[in-house]
Amino acid sequence: MVATADAKRHAAKIVRRLKTAYPIARCALNFKTPLELLIATILSAQCTDARVNMVTRDLFKKYRSAADFARAKTPDLERAIQTAGFFRMKAKSIQGASRKLVEEYGGNVPQDLDALVELPGVGRKTANVVLGTAFGIASGVVVDTHVTRVTRRLGMTSQTDAVKIEQDLMAQIPKREWIDFSHRVILHGRQICAARKPKCSICPLKDICPKIGVADGSLLD
Ligand code: SF4
Repeated sequence: MVATADAKRHAAKIVRRLKTAYPIARCALNFKTPLELLIATILSAQCTDARVNMVTRDLFKKYRSAADFARAKTPDLERAIQTAGFFRMKAKSIQGASRKLVEEYGGNVPQDLDALVELPGVGRKTANVVLGTAFGIASGVVVDTHVTRVTRRLGMTSQTDAVKIEQDLMAQIPKREWIDFSHRVILHGRQICAARKPKCSICPLKDICPKIGVADGSLLD
């Protein structure tokens, strides 16, 4: 994927403005170790980060290692994560991933994208979150629902598939910005460029944003 010079210039302006608007770029999920971030990210599917943080506050006291999660009784784990939603599927992913970590990586989280996406329940998004936020490794751009919506409105991509959106963004943005860009776009999507009512009048990007799909509502999700 090659980005045009215009696309790169547009992206550079967006990166600069977002840096000024959100100087502190951090993940909203609470964690102390790469394993905790991996589990929290699995739990965050279809769930708010605030809810995940409530669940993990107790969960991480009870289960402290990949081995703890791997040998937990499934109904106990399901109960512990129930309020995060989709708890059966998430418990299955957490236990499947933890077993593989114990069996193949000595209970540690591998610092490698290909290895991470082989873990049950872990896709590129989760792998990018863990590598970028826990290890500082820029493996890609995290594409979640906020990044999808906001970057499409900003005209940075016209794709709907997360992998293709990520390819467009990686081509336009310097690698050193990938990790923080995702955090900032997610913040921006939560605070200003909301799905239903984007606050364009107070948006720091309003003069450079083509607002694609905003007027006709086609990009509201
Ligand atoms: S101008 Fe509106 S559509 Fe564009 S990024 Fe800002 S809030 Fe979103």
